Amino acid sequence: MIYERRLCSRSEIAQGSGLDASTVTRVVQQLVDDRIVEESILQKVENQRGRRSIGLKMAADPHRVLVVRLQRLNFKVAMLDLTGSILKSIEIPVNSVSTAENIFDRIVESLNSFLGLCKENLVGIGITLPGPFLEDSERIVLITESPDWHQFDLIKRLREHYKNIPIHSKHDAKAAALAVWISQGLDSESKVTLYLSAGQGIGSGLVFSGNVFKGSLGTAGEIGHTSVDLNGPLCRCGNNGCLELYTSSLALLRNLGKDWQNISSQPISFEEVVVAYKNRNPSVLKEVSRVAQYLAQGLVNSINLMNPDLIVLGDEYSKFGDSFLENIKIHIQKKILPSVFKNINFQLAPQTDLVIGGSFHHVIQNEML
Ligand SMILES: [Zn+2]
Repeated sequence: MIYERRLCSRSEIAQGSGLDASTVTRVVQQLVDDRIVEESILQKVENQRGRRSIGLKMAADPHRVLVVRLQRLNFKVAMLDLTGSILKSIEIPVNSVSTAENIFDRIVESLNSFLGLCKENLVGIGITLPGPFLEDSERIVLITESPDWHQFDLIKRLREHYKNIPIHSKHDAKAAALAVWISQGLDSESKVTLYLSAGQGIGSGLVFSGNVFKGSLGTAGEIGHTSVDLNGPLCRCGNNGCLELYTSSLALLRNLGKDWQNISSQPISFEEVVVAYKNRNPSVLKEVSRVAQYLAQGLVNSINLMNPDLIVLGDEYSKFGDSFLENIKIHIQKKILPSVFKNINFQLAPQTDLVIGGSFHHVIQNEML
């Protein structure tokens, strides 16, 4: 409860758990002695007697979690405390001709430098990978435009290397969905959260009452490969007219490129598009609006299938802000039943690394709860 609520009192724990006050006091004392939990500033509790009680929260020191986020063009390593704050992180570019063995050596090298700082107080290591990743067998199926990861058992190799350290792997979009549920779903008491990760790739993560839905192999949520046009172009997955082909930021930049000469002589970047959108550049507005319409169509399909009560837009496209989300909502509203629409709370994801955050939660949930 302290982890989930971030700050709560002993009496709230007693009420919520049904344990008697003396048991709660004893267990909390053990957590305080182990420096997992610490007392916080006085928290005002507006009960009938107007009393104040002491808050409890996860301790900032000394325990640490390490997270490795593997991407196509780089990997990141971050060190977090139990409150989820990133204390230190590095990003190492991955050379396009690197082999998996090569990248593994560099990951180990980076991890070793972090372990020098926190080995005594390490809870565990989380590692996230781009999909499709088979979470049950912890094997990478394919990472496009990357070395032959499917022939390299990364997780097994890491476990062999760090024998006494717990290592937990997760698909990156699902890790982000877990972070979103903890930061936004918990407070809104969401039963079905749909996290839409929209950027260079289009994916989603589904969280049912706090549990991230994996599917039988671990590939559930691939909204980017749901079709929005039966007669559309052929996608590498075998389907026609996949949502990702129309809405990825790569497609957006490609489509804008034709008009871009009027705005800038430099090669187009996503950040520039965001600035141009906020400055209401007409051709950018038109193109981004088209993307919103397609994303809405993809979401309508998912909404009809999953009946979510919370939809959170994240990754690159969240930088377009509220007006972009509003645009998507307008299109969705026209295409679904009013009662279903009314039940959905739409939000933007926070501008933090949700994948790192989700991996942190995954380690905590497996090692401490
Ligand atoms: Zn596809």
